[in-house]
Amino acid sequence: MSAEIETSRLQQLDHAHFMHPFTDHNDLGAKGTRIIERADGVYIEDTAGQKILDGMAGLWCVNVGYGRKSIADAVYEQMQTLPFYNSFFQCTHPPAVELAHELATLAPEGMNHVFFTGSGSESNDTVLRMVRHYWALKGQPEKQVMITRENAYHGSTVAAASLGGMKPMHRQGGLPIPGIEHIAQPYWFGEGGALSADELGLKAAQALEARIQAVGPDKVAAFMAEPVQGAGGVIIPPASYWPEVKRILAQYDILLVVDEVICGFGRTGEWFGCQYYDLTPDLMPIAKGMTSGYLPMGGVIVADKVAEVLAAGGEFFHGYTYSGHPVAAAAALENLRILKEEKIPEYVRDVAAPYLAQAWLTLADHPLVGEARSLGLMGALELVRHRETRERFAESLKVGERCRDYAVEAGLVMRAVGDTMIIAPPLVITTEQIDELVTKARQALDMTW
Ligand code: PLP
Repeated sequence: MSAEIETSRLQQLDHAHFMHPFTDHNDLGAKGTRIIERADGVYIEDTAGQKILDGMAGLWCVNVGYGRKSIADAVYEQMQTLPFYNSFFQCTHPPAVELAHELATLAPEGMNHVFFTGSGSESNDTVLRMVRHYWALKGQPEKQVMITRENAYHGSTVAAASLGGMKPMHRQGGLPIPGIEHIAQPYWFGEGGALSADELGLKAAQALEARIQAVGPDKVAAFMAEPVQGAGGVIIPPASYWPEVKRILAQYDILLVVDEVICGFGRTGEWFGCQYYDLTPDLMPIAKGMTSGYLPMGGVIVADKVAEVLAAGGEFFHGYTYSGHPVAAAAALENLRILKEEKIPEYVRDVAAPYLAQAWLTLADHPLVGEARSLGLMGALELVRHRETRERFAESLKVGERCRDYAVEAGLVMRAVGDTMIIAPPLVITTEQIDELVTKARQALDMTW
């Protein structure tokens, strides 16, 4: 069968049977899905043979790059030794134990406990129950409200999507569930620029204090946020933001949940994004880069002070069949070994992130670009009709989507969040490949313009 016929056969089957996540299927029918068949390093390849630089590391997850044989070997071996056993009911198994120990070693001081899940969404469902249960055990059962941020993405399960602040998600399925409050994000470009970045950062942090006071400090259990808001559009908080948030949380005795699903495992140039901002989380949901996406796995790293209260409370009625899955744990262990041995977070911090920052910023001179920003190996471009006034294009023009499609034509995966173009390449991207990424991004901008 020729490659073309095979592609078309798969596309037809895909259209007939495959319900894709976050996809308008009407759109798919017209365009046909792109079928990605293989990948190596920072490149993916489709059935038409086009090699594309994966500027999104899959979905912010393939931190060590594609084609790591040692992960495949570790998985193969574990499959043969013990493909599955649960970690319920007084049982455990070597890969999950080793992984919990390894994560405790890597995590900030005082975070020595790990609850395993199958994804970031499950991690955030777990967080919600842990936080509320913690306060109940502490004798403050009225402390139940979680404050999170508008436009945040924390996953797709009912609790995780409720914790998230994406209104289109809330409109489908009657979300959010009760007891979740959303406050403004520290989005300096989006707020128009009337305030300086630091003024805006302080204002956004103070919205937290105002909401705590409105809800009642004795009712607020936790504040949850990503260090840098990823899927929301790589929203990098102004320097004034996190110190003020820290002050407020300490003042009102409120837990800090730092969602590390994207920022964890080297993306910011530190092992965890909380270390970049000098935060002391009480709980840290993780996933994605934990296995570099080679197998699904997530978890919550829990501070001793929280874990001790939960442990003293007896059984926590919560868990997943695949909590600590031995094969996923084996993949995670090998992934962490690679990250450590190749000093990948250090490479991001010392080489790749500074290089990307200067190369990415050169795109700021393009007439379509209102702002170019980056932190670690995450970047965003704000597409605007007028650079001076930051005026956006009409939504119906779908400028971001067009730019995304042109980028693929040019050989680059970028994502569009509305008219904000974002990138988060594998952390092993070389400086030459960063040049290639930026050149292709410029081609996409030129084609869109
Ligand atoms: N939290 C953040 C910050 C995310 O970006 C995501 C996914 O993109 C999730 C949680 C949910 O993770 P998953 O898709 O593994 O359920």
